[in-house]
Amino acid sequence: MQSPRRTIDLRSVNRQTVLRRLYFDGPMSRLEISQHSRLSPATITNVVNDLLKEDIVIETGLVESEGGRPRTILAVNPQHGYFIGVDLGETHVQLDLFDLHMTKQKTARYLVAPQDNSPEQFIQHIVNGLDELLKTEGLKPEMILGVGVGLPGLVERGGKYNVSSPIWKWENVPFGEMLRSRITLPVFLDNGAKAMALAETWFGAGRGYQNLIVVLLGTGIGSGIITHGSLYRGPTNSAGELGHTIIVLDGRSCRCGSRGCLEAYAGAPGMIATLHDLAPDSPLLRTNDEDDDQLAILNNLVAGVEQGDPTAIETVRATAYYLSAAIANVVNLFNPEMIVVGGWVGLQIGSTILDYLREYVDQYALPPLRKVVQIEISQLGQDAICMGAACLVLDQFLAGNPKFMRKNPS
Ligand SMILES: [Zn+2]
Repeated sequence: MQSPRRTIDLRSVNRQTVLRRLYFDGPMSRLEISQHSRLSPATITNVVNDLLKEDIVIETGLVESEGGRPRTILAVNPQHGYFIGVDLGETHVQLDLFDLHMTKQKTARYLVAPQDNSPEQFIQHIVNGLDELLKTEGLKPEMILGVGVGLPGLVERGGKYNVSSPIWKWENVPFGEMLRSRITLPVFLDNGAKAMALAETWFGAGRGYQNLIVVLLGTGIGSGIITHGSLYRGPTNSAGELGHTIIVLDGRSCRCGSRGCLEAYAGAPGMIATLHDLAPDSPLLRTNDEDDDQLAILNNLVAGVEQGDPTAIETVRATAYYLSAAIANVVNLFNPEMIVVGGWVGLQIGSTILDYLREYVDQYALPPLRKVVQIEISQLGQDAICMGAACLVLDQFLAGNPKFMRKNPS
């Protein structure tokens, strides 16, 4: 006889199987779920009945079937609830509201001065943003299934969600616990690049691939490594610190304390340093934008490349050269099928750097591994980290985390 515990586990696994299938491949009939999942029709009927009762799944129509009764088509109910994805960046805080199908409904965005980086200040931005989104969309807090947060740092999973972020000088800050004391909704936290990797895998350029690496190019550089369809985290959830892999021995100082890290060459300040090294008096370094010098200089660089400015071209080429060393290393280490480059710098310079990047990776990666990997720019744009942060909640929702079993679905 099966133990009660085992029965519960099996029900939860079956529920997860049906819900994930309907979410990612639906709408579909019960018969199609059965064909795709290898679960028995009786099991599917039971699970679907539960999901219909909970209003997570809805009936959306009928299809003719050969010689039998028409079949009911089932879909995940987009209005069952909403997710909030938060991107805590070095220069901004962005909150996006998504429906259950991960369609963006609304954004709240605040600029942050680099020195305003205390945990309390970020939490206040999140609290304000949540208020703003709920008010403008006329939603009650209970309609929000959870809040996911992506941030630049090392995030301890579970427990207090301690965060260490060298750039903000945070060491083991119990950020998750602090945030939970201010908002009553379920909260999930992870490194922004890891969150973004989930979004790219499920909804972006990585869809359909099992082994991919998502590179987040911003002021700093991070990455999310997906192997066999799952995030590779390492024992302390710190895997993927691509920005601090060494590409020049004893090279430029990095803000992590080491030297020669990729970030010191291919993050926004690194690119600007390269431009400065090449031509200290270049007009490309001049900006009128006191609020965001980095962005203004990168804009100058992209415009310079388009106009054939040799210094701009050389700066972008040199950045591709450094970045390709790191990418060739991960290609040789992980044998991915896809590399997706995103982040605000990645999006800004993507079209100007992509050809150089592919050419250099051709030179540096082992040919049999290079042959099977594509290099693309993110399709999710500036919302990729918010979307990824919301995916942290979606993942738990699809896994049947009991936090989402609402007593009074409205
Ligand atoms: Zn470093």
